[in-house]
Amino acid sequence: MFYTSTRDKSIKVTASKAIAQGISEEGGLFVPCVLPQFSMDKISSMVSMSYIDRAKTVLREFLTDFTEEELSYCVEGAYSAEKFSSPAIAPTVHICGNKNILELWHGPTCAFKDMALQLLPYLMTVSAKKTAEGKTIVILVATSGDTGKAALEGFKDVKDTKILVFYPVDGVSPMQKLQMVTQEGENVSVCAINGNFDDAQSAVKSIFTDSEIKEQLAAKNMMFSSANSINWGRLVPQIVYYFSTYCDMISMNNIKAGEEINVVVPTGNFGNILAGFYAKKMGLPIKMLICASNSNNVLTDFLKTGTYDRNRSFYTTTSPSMDILISSNLERLLYHMSDEDDKLVSDLMFQLSENGKYTVSDALIQKIQKTFDAGFTAENDVDSTIKSHFENYNYLCDTHTAVAVKVYDDYVKRTGDDIPSVIDSTASPYKFSKSVLSAVLGGNTPALDEFDMVDELNRVTAADVPAPLANLKNKQVRFNNVCNRENMSEMVFSLLNL
Ligand SMILES: *Cc1c(COP(=O)(O)O)cnc(C)c1O
Repeated sequence: MFYTSTRDKSIKVTASKAIAQGISEEGGLFVPCVLPQFSMDKISSMVSMSYIDRAKTVLREFLTDFTEEELSYCVEGAYSAEKFSSPAIAPTVHICGNKNILELWHGPTCAFKDMALQLLPYLMTVSAKKTAEGKTIVILVATSGDTGKAALEGFKDVKDTKILVFYPVDGVSPMQKLQMVTQEGENVSVCAINGNFDDAQSAVKSIFTDSEIKEQLAAKNMMFSSANSINWGRLVPQIVYYFSTYCDMISMNNIKAGEEINVVVPTGNFGNILAGFYAKKMGLPIKMLICASNSNNVLTDFLKTGTYDRNRSFYTTTSPSMDILISSNLERLLYHMSDEDDKLVSDLMFQLSENGKYTVSDALIQKIQKTFDAGFTAENDVDSTIKSHFENYNYLCDTHTAVAVKVYDDYVKRTGDDIPSVIDSTASPYKFSKSVLSAVLGGNTPALDEFDMVDELNRVTAADVPAPLANLKNKQVRFNNVCNRENMSEMVFSLLNL
């Protein structure tokens, strides 16, 4: 299996090269040249498997230059019982009727990013051995909150790697910030930047492709790579849990083998939902992929009209991991949906960086709409959804999940399409205790610090507090750097002692 670039399809690289390198030379994203196909028999054979074996079954088809031993080492290391608080790793919970929730936050940092970022360091170090022997990999991360912590936790003290994380100074929750600035490990650095997530992400992207910086790194036997979802190694682990939830729905007698389901995804960078798209293309019976946004509804508009326009107000919401106006992975979807038109994709991405917008043809958007529906949830609806689901179903969801739940309810009302459905739940409610508590209490936020807020939410709802969040209280703050966007490359130099 080979990978090519969304902006130049003459490129052909192995999985390990795509993962070690992160992004293609000319700025395109790596995508599989052809997708493996899973028959219903093959999917049915996965029903009785553990998550680890399901993961091996899916990943084996994509990581064809990994040996079976390497694959086992990676997958068993990533999804071990000490790291995940649920033996199912990603359990599916029935809420009511045809509504199910796929909980993706039982990993060490309590957000769905762990599903990929526990595995990525393994994939990357194995890949680097094959393609870049002896080089230290420098992971540069822009985060809207959850990626940063999950990447730090995944890469901490991993041999021959260093990791630098940039987060928007006012764009993350207090819990997310605490998780990052208390991070342990000898090879980690964390820095706040004055700006929003898009500022951080575009600065990181330009540092990646800056040839002067790359030369200086090479002289020190280092190379950059990415732990953002532009890296194929971040996306491929996410395909697994769509197969896994489908198998669990069969075991739970929610569906029969072969029956179609709808999938709803709270979306930011378009990585998670794109993994669902790959699963569908591989033969998993997914009917619609429903893209849920918060007030930063640039994707809702794109999927409804065919015009992507980031020239709009940026809102800081209670679902900060979705406060994004440039969804990088949409580039991959455009490539696949345009029958692999790399010239078109290059042109659209050029328009996006020059003018902040582009419009695709009617034919292309209509084709996309056959698979993707979209909606967004305003802030007050997030709160009422959290409250009503807690009261009616005794199910406590976080703000990001609530965005998706509301978009799903709207979708069913609008279309009448109520086939069995899975809503991705992307964070523990305790990562956003203040917003969740205030929603449950109908708008009254008690004046408490972050930790007392956790205790209060636990007292009010009796939902379990994940141990990694409870333990933060005793940790020391290690990082308090802040820099401006223009000074990010200097910060990188200084953090790496170049
Ligand atoms: C990252 C994140 C998202 C958005 O996922 P994408 O793959 O970027 O679309 C949603 N919810 C939470 C809690 C996240 O951390």
